[in-house]
Amino acid sequence: MHYLSTRNASVRVSLSQAIARGIAPDGGLFVPESLPAFTPESFDGLTELPQIAKRLIAPFAAGDELSDELEAICEEAFNFPAPLVPLPKATSPVAALELFHGPTCAFKDFGARFLAACMSRIRRGAARKLTILVATSGDTGGAVAAAFHNKPWVDVAVLYPKGLVSERQAQQLACWGDNVKTFAVHGTFDDCQRMVKEAFLDASLRSSHELSSANSINVGRLLPQMVYYAKASLEHWRATKTHANFIIPTGNLGNAMACVWARRAGLPIGAVVLATNENRTIPDFLSTGQWEPRSSKATLASAMDVGNPSNMERMRALYPEFALLTANISAFSVDDAEIRATVRRDFDELGYVWCPHSATGAEVYRRLVAQGSAGPWVIVATAHPAKFNDIVEPIVGPVPVPPSLAELLSLPRIETELQPTLAALRTALDS
Ligand SMILES: *Cc1c(COP(=O)(O)O)cnc(C)c1O
Repeated sequence: MHYLSTRNASVRVSLSQAIARGIAPDGGLFVPESLPAFTPESFDGLTELPQIAKRLIAPFAAGDELSDELEAICEEAFNFPAPLVPLPKATSPVAALELFHGPTCAFKDFGARFLAACMSRIRRGAARKLTILVATSGDTGGAVAAAFHNKPWVDVAVLYPKGLVSERQAQQLACWGDNVKTFAVHGTFDDCQRMVKEAFLDASLRSSHELSSANSINVGRLLPQMVYYAKASLEHWRATKTHANFIIPTGNLGNAMACVWARRAGLPIGAVVLATNENRTIPDFLSTGQWEPRSSKATLASAMDVGNPSNMERMRALYPEFALLTANISAFSVDDAEIRATVRRDFDELGYVWCPHSATGAEVYRRLVAQGSAGPWVIVATAHPAKFNDIVEPIVGPVPVPPSLAELLSLPRIETELQPTLAALRTALDS
């Protein structure tokens, strides 16, 4: 299997190269040259995430040096569950796909852990230590730090905007130490991203460090995200012989892209519906045909505050004609008042507590049912509500903290404050 750039199909690399490079040399995103043709029966006898992962990802790694070690990679990456939890009090069949049982309680743990497992093999025997730079608006930095913490072949530098993430997110970014350096930047997320981009272009830093990134456009983060859609849809298929329809809280479109790839690879997945917050770039595009990226707007579902979702480039590579695209995905925008109302109502009516991101999906489910859709629907729960206690608890009261989060919350915070300049970052990395 080769990976091609979305901008130029003559750029062809192996899976290891696509993971190591992150972004294609022409600025495009790597996509698999073809998708495998599975049937639900291809997975007969397989019920656990690591087993399904190995079968599903094998064709994507065919011919690559990683393929011999895929089993071990999948066991390392998929070491926590992704349960499909029915919501029996709902009026129309629906379940929550809980993706928040990993070390930092958000779905990004799946991608970060798989990426770390692949990179540790790709880097084996490398002469220099790798330095991974991550700019984060909240969830990515914690997942990457957790996945790469204490690995002897790599250092991690996490940059986050001081004061602009939730208190518990800040704790998850700064509780690591050892090979993880956490920088609380006096600036915005855009400043953090700019500093990382400048670092990659800086000759002095590039000679003192071998730099890499772990951002969400890396194909090594998308492939593992197909796996929980495969497992959930297979469970549903085996029980009912019908397709599961997914509602996916969406920001940069990485999670939903993986679902669409899984469907195209033959998994029994029906509709894929995107729920965005007030950052409406995707729903507006699907209704007008005009792609109009804009600057992001701050909402309660902050991990989805994306005005220019980069994975749309991959979606359009898969569905080049607009009519094909709109036949295969749809999208709805949900505002902050609706997020709050949904958290309240589903706590009262369903006895279930959503995080603010997942609540966008729950609101879209209500709209689909009101339009007469019979489902059955699966709402993707992207983070644990306890991670966003500052928003959720005033609405529903105390939310129990899962043990993995409690452990991180008990650790001391180790971070360095940083001015928002490349010079400051250079000094901090060299020290
Ligand atoms: C990152 C994130 C999202 C958005 O996922 P994309 O892949 O960027 O669309 C949604 N919810 C949570 C909790 C996240 O951390």
